[in-house]
Parts: sequence; structure tokens; C-alpha cells
Amino acid sequence: MMVLTKKMIEIRGILQTVGQSDTLNLPSIVVIGSQSSGKSSVLEAIVGHEFLPKGSNMVTRRPIELTLVNTPDAQADYGEFPALGLGKITDFSSIQRTLTELNLAVPDSECVSDDPIQLIISSPHVPDLSLIDLPGYIQVVGHHQPLELKQKIVDLCDKYIQAPNIILAISAADVDLANSTALRSSRRVDPRGERTIGVVTKMDLVDAPRGLSILNDKKYPLRLGYVGVVLKVPNQTGPLWKKGSGSISTAIAKNENAYFSSHSVEFGSQAGVSVGTTILRKKLMQVLEQAMAASLQSTSTAIQQELEEATYEFKVQYNDRPLSAESYLAESLDSFKHSFKEFAEAFGRPQVRGILKHELDQKVLDLLAARYWNKPITDLTPPPAEPDTLASLPKADPESLYWHRKLDASSSALTKLGIGRLATTVVANAIQANVDRLISQSTFYSHPFARQAITDAASSILNERFYSTSDQVENCIKPYKFEVDVESAEWVEARQNVSSVLKSELLAVESATKAVETEVGGKRKLNDVVSFIEKCRAGSINIEGDGTAASGAGGFSSALLAKGREAAFLQERAALLKMRLLAVKSKQCATAKSKYQCPEVFLDAVSTKLTSTAVLFLNVELLTEFFYSFPRELDIRLGRNLSTTEVEKFAREDPKVKAHLEVIRRKELLELVLGKMEGLRELDVQEKTRRSSG
Ligand code: GDP
Repeated sequence: MMVLTKKMIEIRGILQTVGQSDTLNLPSIVVIGSQSSGKSSVLEAIVGHEFLPKGSNMVTRRPIELTLVNTPDAQADYGEFPALGLGKITDFSSIQRTLTELNLAVPDSECVSDDPIQLIISSPHVPDLSLIDLPGYIQVVGHHQPLELKQKIVDLCDKYIQAPNIILAISAADVDLANSTALRSSRRVDPRGERTIGVVTKMDLVDAPRGLSILNDKKYPLRLGYVGVVLKVPNQTGPLWKKGSGSISTAIAKNENAYFSSHSVEFGSQAGVSVGTTILRKKLMQVLEQAMAASLQSTSTAIQQELEEATYEFKVQYNDRPLSAESYLAESLDSFKHSFKEFAEAFGRPQVRGILKHELDQKVLDLLAARYWNKPITDLTPPPAEPDTLASLPKADPESLYWHRKLDASSSALTKLGIGRLATTVVANAIQANVDRLISQSTFYSHPFARQAITDAASSILNERFYSTSDQVENCIKPYKFEVDVESAEWVEARQNVSSVLKSELLAVESATKAVETEVGGKRKLNDVVSFIEKCRAGSINIEGDGTAASGAGGFSSALLAKGREAAFLQERAALLKMRLLAVKSKQCATAKSKYQCPEVFLDAVSTKLTSTAVLFLNVELLTEFFYSFPRELDIRLGRNLSTTEVEKFAREDPKVKAHLEVIRRKELLELVLGKMEGLRELDVQEKTRRSSG
């Protein structure tokens, strides 16, 4: 019953997925032999396909870990390179090409590499076997090859022919066995010949009696014996076997049988020697199965140890805290939704109002600058006989149509600004910025995929609501486009508010002036430039052209002049703001009657009305909708819509989580494997009892 090898190969496969393949020192059959001894032919006869790299150049530079899997129900034979993820390859010439490429990827300077290539071949015609193909021993180093190549190959092979591996030592019949490098190597590590199988190829190249004497060799006795084979594929283009067209085993076996039966005296059943590929396969299966059985105990122990280590790590580092990719995602999502809920509760009408009002304050300042404060401020020339502090107040005539139109135009510029879009954009941006902030404070921060999903969820809802919200807002502020009445309470509030807006604008201008001062290298220098510019403006000095010439003017570089102009502008603006601040605070602006003289207060009142109306609708159309839909959208994008693989990938993006998950997985798999091993050991015991009693 040959189940052990199959099961053990399966187990090795499981352990490889947790990177624990070294734990399981499963016995393999290691194939060694000199170049051209027929090593590849032996392997291909076992597999039934031509798949190994061929060529005069040394083509095997890396060990090939070849796993054969017997699949009774498979429709076709196929190979897989688990490390490459190329999927199932049914075209064996393509496998051959891939192997060639993988070998040639080892640079000449390195000669050979001990990084193995893994190849799994599944077929109903192969036995379950684990084989390792190694570079062939070379006798003389070719002139294109590095000198140390010979030794490097020997070292590489030595690494693999250690116990518990079985050595398949290939020698050609037409070379004296005493000269067989394969046998000499195997003797060094297996002097009593206990785990070496001798394969003698090219039996057809020596006469039959000589062939017989080789197989009966007494000089190098091997407990597992010698097998003679003839691997010449007859007439490669003939009807028996066409290159690349399925199994070559039958063709080889036919040819081999023909040869051995034509020499039945030497090789017939009476002769007592083993010949033929079929016998060789059976022998390999039996020997490997026995080796597997022998290694059961030690492997179990090794796995047990690994398991204890994983359990310990889990306890010490993770406090036995269970975790799965799913639970990690669910917890992360819950806590994110929780923090979002907190935000939603804190982000209501007052907050939206604040954001929007601030935006409109800026627009009002722009309007004032453009329509009232621009130079020359002729319209704002001070009345002659007023107290000092009011020296610079505007002399606006409340009866004049000019002032009426000016205020109407300013107010309507504000109401027709496109408040709907502006308000929606500003609030949507604020929401998006807050979502970004929440992400950066959450576990999702270290997960690019989730970050994107959340950002997309937010922007998709906001985009969807955008047009209807801005239309609604625009519709509702429509009345203000025709007329705005400001009541006295509103005036008082506006007066207070605009004062602080002007104050903070003044602060901003002053700090900008300071910044320019530092940039040019001090107050004095700046003053020099500014006064120069003022003289130019007054006409007492004439700057060539407009003063932007690279050469500059008045001993100042053009960059300095530019800074000077900037400072001059800021200084004027500061003076103006101070003047208007005084005006707003003065008695003259105390009531709504003076709206023509105090456009700052009036426009602030208008912007407050616009804000309040907009906020009402933003709240219903945007905020409430968003707060309702966003958590649901998250559930869809980060919950239901994700496949198990995506969830797994997500969780592993965080190295800490990845390590935690891996310990758990390793532990679980080792437990699983250990269970399987126990089962196999019981099976093995039963088998032995059955055999000894039967
Ligand atoms: P490797 O270098 O050890 O892999 O050897 P190959 O398997 O490539 O074989 C070397 C050469 O010997 C090839 O031309 C094979 O066709 C030939 N060859 C292998 N086995 C036999 C055999 O049993 N009889 C004969 N006549 N030729 C063989």
C-alpha cells in the first residue's frame, strides 16, 4: 500500500504554504551522475515526457525539486512551478523552455546556484515521487567555464546526498564503474551502500555478458541493488513516438523489452538481475515509501517542536488573542464608523454656518476692496469739520442715487455669486477633509486599499448630492437677489461681526508686511525702497519704463522693487482697513439708516442672511443624507463586496497584523499536519502488524 509517500508529499505542500518546509526533512530521491551518463533520460523515462533542458552548454545550474503526483482522474498531464504562479502547463516543451530560462538566469560567474527550482508534475501515469535533479558532474572544465565549476558542482551535490535522502547514482554501462563519479560520491556519504540505488544506463552499448557482469558488481555492493536500463528512444520521428506528443514511456519500454528479451540468457527472470524502466519505477516507489515510513517518527517530532514554538510565540507576543482577517476588518470598520458617528454628531448647523460665513466674509472683503476701497479713494474723502478720529470717514450722501446704485450693485454681486455652488463645494470639501482626518487617525491609515475605498465612498455620495443641493440652495436664496431688508438687531450683529472681520484682515495684512520686511532684510531697507517707489509715483523721480526691468532702478534691484511695491500696497491696505474699522465703530454706522455710508456692515448683514438660508438646505440635502449613506456605503465597499482573498490581502497590508495572522495560521496548519501525521503513524503500525501476522 503506497499511500505514505503521497500523504507526506501533501503534508510537505501544506507546510510550504507557511514557509515551514524545512521543518519537514522528508526523504527525496536525489539523482546524481556525470554529464551524459543518461541522467536526464532516466528522469524523463520516469515522467514520460521530454521536459529537461538539453544542450551542449552546461544547462542544469540549479537543483530541480521535482514532485510527481499521481492523479488517476486527470485528463491530461501537466506541470506547475509553484513559485512562478504560471498555473497548469500542459505543454511540456514550454516547461522545458521555462526550466532553461531559470537555469540560464544563474550568471556564469556564479556557475551553479543552490536555490532550487520547484516543479510539480501531475499525471495518471506517474508514481508519487519526490525527486531532485542536480547538475551533472564534470570531468574536465571546458574553456568557457570557470575553473571552480567542477568543485562547486561536487559541493552542491554533496549537500543533497545527505541522509535521509535516497541516492540514485547514474552510471553508463560503457564507462567502467570504477570511474563512475556518481558511485564514488555516494560511497563517501553512504559507505555501506544502504540508501543508494545504482542505475546503469546504455546497457545496449556493451555486449550482454559484460552488461550482466556490471549489474552483478561485487566491488560496489549496494543493498538496494543495481538496475540496468536502455533509454534510447527509438527512431525519434517514427510512428512509435513523435517528439512532444505525449508519453514516451511506452516507446522506451517497448524498445527496452525488445533489447532485454533478445538477451534472455543474461537478463531473463532466471538471471537474477533487475532490468528495465518499469522495474526501476517500482523500486523507487518502494524505497521511497520505506524511507518515508522510517522518517515518520522524526518528522512528527520536528513538527511537534515547531508547533510548540508557534504556540509559545502566540502566547507571549499576542497574548493568545484570536484574530482573523475578517475579524480585523470588521473591528477596524466598526471603530471607523464609530469615530465617524462622533464627527457627525459634532458637525452640525453651527459648524457648517461657521465655515460658510467665513468663506462669504472673504468674498465681502473682495467686493469692498473692488467697489469702495480702490484708489484713488476720492469717494471716501473725509468731511472737513469732524472730530479727529473720524477724519477719514466717507462722505457718502444718503440722498444721492449714485450711492444707492453702488450699494445695490455690491449687494447683488454678492447674492448672484453662485452661492448654491459655492456653499455646496465649501461644505463638501470640509466633509471630505474630515473624512481624511478620520482615516488618518484610524487603523485604515496603514491600508492603502481601504483608504482609497473610504475616500471614494465619501466622494461618490458628495458628488451624487452636489447638483441637487446647489440647485436647492440657489433657489432658496433667490428672494435676496431682489431686495434685502436689514432689521436693527441684524444691523447690530453685522456691525459687530464685520469689525472683527476687518480686524483679523488687518492682522493678516500686518503680518504679511512683516514677512516682506524679513525677506528684504529689515525695516529700514524696506522703508527706503517704499519711499523711493512713492516718490516715483508722485512724479518727482522717473523710473525708466515701468520699473520692471531686470536691471532695477534707483540703486534697487528689480526684485527689491517688486517687494517694495508689495509692501507699499500692504501699507496702503492697512491704513485703509484702520480707517474703515474706525468708521464702522463710529456713531455714524450705529443704525441701518446709514447703510450707504457703511457698506461693510450692510454687506455683512446680507452675507449672514445668505448663510443662514443656505445652511438650512445644506443641512437637509447634504449633511443628513451624507451621515445616513456614508456608513452604508462603507459596509458595501469594505464589507459585502470583498472576496475572502481581498480581505486577507487587506489585513496583511499592516505588517503587525500580518505577523499576528501568520502565527495563528502557522499554528493551525501545524496542528492540522500533526493530526495527519498521527493518523499516518497509526496506519503504518497497522500495516506492519498485518504484514507480520499475515
Ligand atoms: P545527461 O547529460 O546525464 O542528462 O545524459 P542524457 O540523458 O542527456 O544522455 C546523454 C546521451 O546519451 C543522449 O544522447 C542520450 O540519447 C544517450 N543515451 C541515454 N541513455 C541511453 C541508452 O540507454 N542507450 C543509448 N544508446 N543511448 C543513451
